[in-house]
Amino acid sequence: MSDQATIDSAPRADAFGEGMPLLELRSVEVAYGGIVALKGIDLQVRQGEIVALLGANGAGKTTTLRTISGLLSPRSGEVLYAGEALAGVPAHRIVQLGIGHSPEGRRIFSRMTVLENLQMGAYRFKGVPQKDLDQVFELFPRLHERRSQLGGNLSGGEQQMLAIGRAMMGQPSLLLLDEPSMGLAPLIVAQIFEIIERINALGTTILLVEQNAAQALKLAHRGYVLETGEVVMSAPAAELLNDPRVREAYLGETAEG
Ligand code: ATP
Repeated sequence: MSDQATIDSAPRADAFGEGMPLLELRSVEVAYGGIVALKGIDLQVRQGEIVALLGANGAGKTTTLRTISGLLSPRSGEVLYAGEALAGVPAHRIVQLGIGHSPEGRRIFSRMTVLENLQMGAYRFKGVPQKDLDQVFELFPRLHERRSQLGGNLSGGEQQMLAIGRAMMGQPSLLLLDEPSMGLAPLIVAQIFEIIERINALGTTILLVEQNAAQALKLAHRGYVLETGEVVMSAPAAELLNDPRVREAYLGETAEG
């Protein structure tokens, strides 16, 4: 089947109503050789939501995002996008179906310019849609100013903007963000979170992996907490923010505090 045929027969995320599960993981198990990283995850992201995925180092957050993107295959369970199973769909087609992924560590191309990095984000689409570039530059005026600079010469915050901008090329219906605040100064983190909120307000559904649990939960509608490959809590974000276990484990507060 050609790529175009796949796109034409693809599930139409935009035909999905607000509040419908755009993404669903059912009993997803993923292993790296003998190491079981996800032990049967159930998770839903509804159209229009920001969902935070929290957990300590090694809990399985990055593995979850990489499985949704088709970079890893579940050994059992299923990932459904707009109601259709993604089993066997290669990663580049998953991008075409409307799932954008800004990976952990940003992974920008340091020897390419900002503009070339953004063009790489669109390489699975026919040409580079000017409207996508315009939208990214509108969201991130800094990237427009620096469009001719090499990615490697950008500040950490600008590199993060570029990683998100690159994932926005193709105007995804679902955006996966892996630790967008990692290693950034508080002022820059605040800017990045503001932009994430704007991207969502423009209609993009977001699954957000964050170590910065407090800020993620302030932004998100709902959240999941992963521990050693299992979902141990899932609730509206405000509820998680006030939960004593979450406050102690992820917000650095003592049980008394
Ligand atoms: P972090 O916040 O540190 O990135 P995480 O919650 O994203 O953590 P994962 O990176 O998904 O966690 O890792 C989940 C588990 O899988 C960990 O035990 C980790 O050591 C293991 N793991 C991750 N990648 C690999 C790999 N390529 N090979 C073997 N084990 C891996």
